[in-house]
Amino acid sequence: MQNVSREFNYKYYVNALTGNVVDSISNSHGGLGTAICRSPYNCQQYIDTDWRGGIFMDYYLRAHTSSRLFETRTHFPRLGWEGSGKITDADNDWQTDHQYKTTAHFHMQNAWDYFSAYPRYWRGPDNKSKEILVWVAQTDNVQKGIKMEFADNKHKRWLLMVGKSGTDFYGTVDLIGHEYSHSFMIESVGLVRQGQSGWIHEGLGDAFGVCVEHYVDGGNPDWSIGNDENLQVRNVSAPWQSLNANDYSEIDYSKNDYYNGAIAGRWFFILSDGEPYGNTPWVSGIGIDKAERIIFRMFESGFVTSNAGYNQIASASVNAASQLYGVCSWEVTQTILAWNKVLIYPKGNCTTASISSILTKSFGIEIYPNPSNSKFRINLSGTPDKYLVTVFDITGREVLNPISMVDKTIIIDVSGLASGTYMCQVKNSNGEFVTKKVIVTH
Ligand SMILES: [Zn+2]
Repeated sequence: MQNVSREFNYKYYVNALTGNVVDSISNSHGGLGTAICRSPYNCQQYIDTDWRGGIFMDYYLRAHTSSRLFETRTHFPRLGWEGSGKITDADNDWQTDHQYKTTAHFHMQNAWDYFSAYPRYWRGPDNKSKEILVWVAQTDNVQKGIKMEFADNKHKRWLLMVGKSGTDFYGTVDLIGHEYSHSFMIESVGLVRQGQSGWIHEGLGDAFGVCVEHYVDGGNPDWSIGNDENLQVRNVSAPWQSLNANDYSEIDYSKNDYYNGAIAGRWFFILSDGEPYGNTPWVSGIGIDKAERIIFRMFESGFVTSNAGYNQIASASVNAASQLYGVCSWEVTQTILAWNKVLIYPKGNCTTASISSILTKSFGIEIYPNPSNSKFRINLSGTPDKYLVTVFDITGREVLNPISMVDKTIIIDVSGLASGTYMCQVKNSNGEFVTKKVIVTH
């Protein structure tokens, strides 16, 4: 028996003796559509779509799989979501048709996938694949900018509104990543969007936006927000360029959440990329992959509470880094020093630890001569173990292949490295490590 409803096409299985419906199976199936990216990309996007059977026989912008659940529609003024038309394509090869919508749909897919991918595994805003509706403005100024809100109490869905005004289109990967993270911060710990928590929302929102863009594009992180559409909304690495607060001394309660929240974004930038050229102690940066694990863990483990301010998120980040990388680890020290750079001083035993000091460990190292022009000798004190020696530059990148150290002493050849400051790290089989600053001079 087959019932062709208006939109969906179901097969019903009926008990022949009783006439009861025992099962029904939808004939509708998802699809993998292709669409052309908006400038500046020259690429092909693979977008998750759904098939409408019935009298329509076409595909529409809805991701509806076991892991993704969101739909993109055109925002017509005065019509609610239900009244706004589905965006459809007959053969699922969208090319440049409905390009603003396919682009927003694609970036929602990227944001969703970023949070649900390794090592986060967070499915949808609430970790239970709660649905998100994406509403893209059809005409200019229906929606200025972009915003995410929980606006559908009846269906318990999130609504992302993507604005368009003239050549300004707000559906960039970093802005959609930013908005998506609002729903994550609210669903995970209930972070409110007022007072200092409102600042944190915007500052860490930009950090998450950079992370989503980095997840999609790879390479070095892009710290400018909205620049893919020439918007240049904010610069996370240099808040002063977008007239936002650079450190805690510039907090101004009369200004908006973006202004005061920029300090959290700058902290994240310094933690990720380092800031070696400022005043001592310098921060070498732990790389964006480790930094983003810290901000995600802050929420995932509940180190942040609903009305968190700067002091609390600073402590939360130290707790998260300690849990991930070890108490008083190099990553924890960097986390604290990065906060110090924006004039926030989280409490903790490692607060005064300098990255060049020997931390309290089961082993210690001595490096000489330092500075050196060709070779360093590392002498190790502690129990015999398999140790691994790694050398990083000031941006946190490995500059030599890791070298295993089985004896109490080893010689490291640095003659191939450019003159400059490096970090030499020795790690034991328990993951404990000691890091020392070394200087190469030619
Ligand atoms: Zn925001």
